[in-house]
Amino acid sequence: MAVPVVASSTFAAGGERGYGRYGNPTWDAFEQAVGSLDGGTCVSFASGMAAVSAAVTALLSGQPADLGVVVPTDGYHAAVDLIERLGRPVRSVSMADTEAVVAALPGAGLLWVESPTNPLLEVADVGALAEAAQRHGVPVAVDATAATPLRLRPLDHGADVVVHAATKYLAGHSDLLMGAVCTRCGELAERLRSHRTTHGAIPGAFESWLALRGLRTLPVRLDRAEETASELARRLASHRSVSRVRYPGMGALVSIEVPGGAAGAEAVVAATNLWVPATSFGGVESLLERRRRWPTERPAVPESLIRLSVGLEDVDDLWADLDAALEAGAPTRA
Ligand SMILES: *Cc1c(COP(=O)(O)O)cnc(C)c1O
Repeated sequence: MAVPVVASSTFAAGGERGYGRYGNPTWDAFEQAVGSLDGGTCVSFASGMAAVSAAVTALLSGQPADLGVVVPTDGYHAAVDLIERLGRPVRSVSMADTEAVVAALPGAGLLWVESPTNPLLEVADVGALAEAAQRHGVPVAVDATAATPLRLRPLDHGADVVVHAATKYLAGHSDLLMGAVCTRCGELAERLRSHRTTHGAIPGAFESWLALRGLRTLPVRLDRAEETASELARRLASHRSVSRVRYPGMGALVSIEVPGGAAGAEAVVAATNLWVPATSFGGVESLLERRRRWPTERPAVPESLIRLSVGLEDVDDLWADLDAALEAGAPTRA
């Protein structure tokens, strides 16, 4: 029932496989599972950023150097940073504003979408964006890490590739880093594989095995965490120490703003016991973080924004801890 961890860097000559940088049976099993969830061919990578890098390179290859990239204003900071380092013109647009994205398409060589965005949790109309991009001949990538294939299948809506940080919900236990890119275009899949082989951004066999094991419980974990997140979002909306709640109606991320700016938010984060102050999301334990504590976070993210990654603990335990931290930390709304 369980796929083995194939820990071999090379294979006896004359068989189906040669050298371990070109392929591994444990990756194959993970890729088959993720590919079937997204409805495409999956290529796995050493991390989410390795997947982002491969997707950006594959989609821009052969495109004139003066063509730019359209990115989300509040996109994942490392992905936007990577794109800015290409030296191409970069335009930042809110992905929730379809008209603004469409207006930015002329002169673009790539539309990089994230939905929901991390950490402002804005939702893009992927179908409308992909349709407009196709009219302009602009390829579309969608980073659907926060949604997972269970809540958003961008390939069904016309995206050329979908990107996942498998580090988050797909693997789901905060114990590894991995990435994945899925596409329905055979030539693009080949380009992604060739990028991985040449750059060496390959996943480990053990990580692939763990990620596959995590993936088995994705629907159960996501349903439970989502149910808790939506209940917490409902309760937070009327909390006197919360000035704004962002919850896109799906998934298990909730972002809140508190009065008192950065200091108010830091005080709340420092006052929790059950919620762990830590970066990242998508694991079974609930985490919280003031995102602007990172100097690399996008300036579009408010100073007092706290991102909550809801895990699998009891909803009332999570609420009691958060409520107490909000009461102890942040001032009340004016
Ligand atoms: C975490 C994350 C990434 C990067 O994944 P790593 O595994 O940390 O490299 C990319 N995109 C989004 C939306 C993420 O949340």
